[in-house]
Amino acid sequence: MFQKILIANRGEIALRVLRACKELGIQTVVVHSTADADAMHVRLADESVCIGPPPSRDSYLNIHQIVAACEITGADAVHPGYGFLSENAKFADILAAHNITFIGPTGDHIRIMGDKIEAKRTAKRLGIPVVPGSDGAVTEEKEARRIAAEIGYPVIIKASAGGGGRGMKVARSEAELEIALQTARSEAGAAFGDDAVYIEKYLEKPRHIEVQVFGDGAGRGVHFGERDCSLQRRHQKVWEEAPSPALNAEERAHIGGVCAKAIADLGYSGAGTIEFLYENGEFYFIEMNTRLQVEHPVTEAITGIDLVHEQIRVASGGGLSVRQEDIKFNGHAIECRINAEDPRTFTPSPGTITHFHTPGGLGIRVDSGVYSGYKIPPYYDSLIGKLIVHGRNRVECMMRLRRALDEFVVDGIKTTLPLFRDLVGNADIANGDYDIHWLEKYLAKEE
Ligand code: ADP
Repeated sequence: MFQKILIANRGEIALRVLRACKELGIQTVVVHSTADADAMHVRLADESVCIGPPPSRDSYLNIHQIVAACEITGADAVHPGYGFLSENAKFADILAAHNITFIGPTGDHIRIMGDKIEAKRTAKRLGIPVVPGSDGAVTEEKEARRIAAEIGYPVIIKASAGGGGRGMKVARSEAELEIALQTARSEAGAAFGDDAVYIEKYLEKPRHIEVQVFGDGAGRGVHFGERDCSLQRRHQKVWEEAPSPALNAEERAHIGGVCAKAIADLGYSGAGTIEFLYENGEFYFIEMNTRLQVEHPVTEAITGIDLVHEQIRVASGGGLSVRQEDIKFNGHAIECRINAEDPRTFTPSPGTITHFHTPGGLGIRVDSGVYSGYKIPPYYDSLIGKLIVHGRNRVECMMRLRRALDEFVVDGIKTTLPLFRDLVGNADIANGDYDIHWLEKYLAKEE
């Protein structure tokens, strides 16, 4: 087991990882920018190293400084959290070259899944159902026309290097195809420095359902069920739940089994999430994330398994603590992402939190790095906390969520709490009757 882990992140996820390390009796080092000197993870860590000024590229993305911090403190492993360097294959390779363990998959697996064309090809080869579309990159309009005619309109053009929902264009007819292809390519080139794009069938009303998987790197793979993250705004997840209200036990076991086998065959190591669009009973692979996800606590709530412990175990060579048959699903969990944003316009609302009171009681978990008097710096994303609620079934979970939202107090800044108070009272949400467009339509109506 590791002696000392360096946590290369900030905010709630740095604290989340720190808690797991403490439970396992592992020493912790955190790195931070000058803007985060007062952050909770810095206060609670055994050691901290300031690695640069506020902008992420000079601090949390500064590989050189992070490796130096490992060497100075003698850390033998790095947990990257999510975002920042968590899906940076070069970072994983550099750590390996320094004999420091990257708590995550190999650089090669990160690379494969980071290229969406390659990821889709790999998924298909591993027996994962994919969205019908082009086999690889498409450059010629003639070829695009042929493929689109074959799969049928509407189609979506997506950037191979894409991320964060950028570089995607929908074409509803052949007349729209040429312009969509051109715009997608130039946007992709500008945003990612790579203008490779591919074509997929555009699904009209899918749900976003993702499967949590784990590999031990030695040919074993398990799944921890799915999460439904269909409630999104601008492709950003807002509310996540497990299990999905749309799946039955048979579908769950089937898609979970397909994913676990794929992970085993790939020889994958650590945590991963295989993301699907789900429509009319069919799953369509869109991408795989090779890291811990923001929404992992809903899976922890229904399985009772600490996924960060599991990541650390696997990375240290201790293997998975569970076999598939040990993983049981119990009840229902929902996560609300609480952002420092105006609940109507979603403009960021940094500033000082004058009062912070979190709900408590059975089935309530709050993951947050903020506190009363904390000043939110304007440099990073606006997530200030996550409320995760568990109940024996979805109805109980929703009742408890409503009560917890009423108790939650964040003064001094605007937050998205009012949005969740509205959603928890909505009939479609109560019925689990929503797709990936539901939230944007709802917000447009409310304006
Ligand atoms: P990114 O990596 O940029 O987030 P994804 O491939 O994960 O890109 O897609 C992001 C979102 O775009 C999906 O959650 C979905 O809302 C939409 N999307 C992607 N592919 C399709 C498709 N074939 N049909 C309909 N919507 C899609």
